[in-house]
Amino acid sequence: MDIRSVGVVGAGQMGNGIAHVMALAGYEVLLNDLDKETLDAALERIARNMDRQVRGGKVSEQDKEAALARIKTTLELTDLGRCDLIIEAATEREEIKQKIFDTLLPHLKPETILTSNTSSISITRLASRTDRPERFMGFHFMNPVPVMQLVELIRGIATDEATFQACKAVVDRLGKTAASAEDFPAFIVNRILMPMINEAVYTLYEGVGSVQSIDQSMKLGANHPMGPLELADFIGLDTCLAIMNVLHDGLADTKYRPCPLLTKYVEAGWLGRKTKRGFYDYRGETPVPTR
Ligand code: NAD
Repeated sequence: MDIRSVGVVGAGQMGNGIAHVMALAGYEVLLNDLDKETLDAALERIARNMDRQVRGGKVSEQDKEAALARIKTTLELTDLGRCDLIIEAATEREEIKQKIFDTLLPHLKPETILTSNTSSISITRLASRTDRPERFMGFHFMNPVPVMQLVELIRGIATDEATFQACKAVVDRLGKTAASAEDFPAFIVNRILMPMINEAVYTLYEGVGSVQSIDQSMKLGANHPMGPLELADFIGLDTCLAIMNVLHDGLADTKYRPCPLLTKYVEAGWLGRKTKRGFYDYRGETPVPTR
């Protein structure tokens, strides 16, 4: 399978990073979202992030210009039908993803590989509702995509070997490392990471520590580059809560129950960096803990 063009659905935090790395690796990219403002903001962000890579000597000015020229945007999801590989990176809600696949399917080439960047939704279930469960799999990037080395590749129960190898070849060409994960709730990284973040929120909720002392403890005491609450803000508290719910429902074990304080922050619309407030307030010069 010769993959030359990649369609990316959703131009949010992950979608713009995926378009960025795909274009730098030489793929033609078609990026889709619901409104023009989001697409324009994504292109601006990609250009800014590539500028940073140029300043750091990681990318040449010429390669940056060539990569930017390879990224096109569209508001018409069905335009992605001509791509060889689709990576769906829209909001983490199953009904949204389902609707995207339903709309796309009649427009896809028979050989097109369909993938989802979902952090937690069952690949087998998403695949079973398409016309190509054997050419469907999980293509799970880490945030921020241009920086993080790992991509989890998740086979659904029906995914065939050729599809897995084609996706693995794409990861290789990106210069990243693929980890193969079986299709169980939250796969590998989030299965381990999210319960730790959730436990950090319980630690805050029960008054064992403040935001600052919890983050400092894990940075200096466990050698983590970021504290768990800082990391939760970075990922998005809505995403963290959604993943905890998937673990809780999917594994039916109370050890995965989401902390009520996490739910409260999400209900307040304090979703972390993307809304400028979460466990820290980002509206000023330096982040200020909110508890
Ligand atoms: P985000 O909210 O930043 O972006 C989602 C984008 O999808 C938005 O721009 C939204 O307008 C768009 N969208 C929603 N419905 C759409 C539709 N019908 N058609 C086209 N676009 C649509 O979210 P994100 O953090 O980029 O997450 C996207 C996906 O990546 C989720 O499945 C999430 O689980 C996964 N993921 C997130 C992270 C992370 O750290 N944030 C890491 C790995 C994977």
